[in-house]
Amino acid sequence: MRALVFTAPGTVELLDVPEPEPARGEVLVEVRAAGICGSELHGARRPGFRQPPLIMGHEFAGTGAGGEAVVVNPILSCGRCPECGRGLRHVCRERQIIGVHRAGGFAERVAVPASALRPLPSGLPWEAAALIEPAANAVHAWNQAGAALGGGGALDANRAGGTRVAVLGCGAIGLLCAATALSGGAGRVEVTDLSPARLAAAQRLGADAAGPDLSGEYDVVIDAVGSAATRAASVAHQRPGGVAVWLGLAEEEAGFDASALVRGEKRVLGSFAYRDEEFAHATALIGDWDLDWAESYPLAAAAEVFTGLMNGGLYPVKALLRP
Ligand SMILES: [Zn+2]
Ligand SMILES: [Zn+2]
Repeated sequence: MRALVFTAPGTVELLDVPEPEPARGEVLVEVRAAGICGSELHGARRPGFRQPPLIMGHEFAGTGAGGEAVVVNPILSCGRCPECGRGLRHVCRERQIIGVHRAGGFAERVAVPASALRPLPSGLPWEAAALIEPAANAVHAWNQAGAALGGGGALDANRAGGTRVAVLGCGAIGLLCAATALSGGAGRVEVTDLSPARLAAAQRLGADAAGPDLSGEYDVVIDAVGSAATRAASVAHQRPGGVAVWLGLAEEEAGFDASALVRGEKRVLGSFAYRDEEFAHATALIGDWDLDWAESYPLAAAAEVFTGLMNGGLYPVKALLRP
């Protein structure tokens, strides 16, 4: 079968590879759509958790052994550690991710544990199904904010109606965070980005475009970029007692004003991946949103598309491969 293989730092190639052989407890998924994630572009340039040779792809949907439509929750956890015991299997210490630690969805077929399969609503387009995984990250970030501001999990609709939300960065994750906040009842969501096209995509989802930078104060500031500058902005533009949720990973530095954090009782929360129920919530929400900022490409063009995104020659907000 054909697969996009990460073969060396900075290099991906479309290759003929052996058919995957499902081990005990695994099933073969026929991939219909797989999203290319920013973390993969970064990981291919500077290998860390992802080591070549590897078939990447952790955001994908397809058909299972019986032809049923499925989406894959790529997080595999041990089920035995304290985090798994507390229902936090997404931060399991022995966590493995399909497409990171083992072969993923940038291929015609992939073998995955049967436990990773989730059903899809009937009639959901494959393009939308491939965006469930990034959307689940957005649902988790929104729930992190809700928990910090006093809700049990998600912000409850009444209180959220007056909540002022800002989202820094309109890549796929930022757009999905804005859509999640609006679906979650936020009164107003302002977004920033350098790209007018990305700001326009956010406006089509119902957000207000703030331009390249924020002004004013917000109850919730979601950083979907993860640079030192956006981390500083997430603290500077947070009202006293508000909360910033960080899920971007562009840089390792965090250049924020720690004294302002102390004096304003401001908060910063990390947000990584999602719980199982948040993946299910994202599956229910994704069909409601305008996803025209995602572009589909055939698997035959995968190496060119991935390389273009990695090196900056190609700029869709989100690229989906359609094996
Ligand atoms: Zn991703
Ligand atoms: Zn565990």
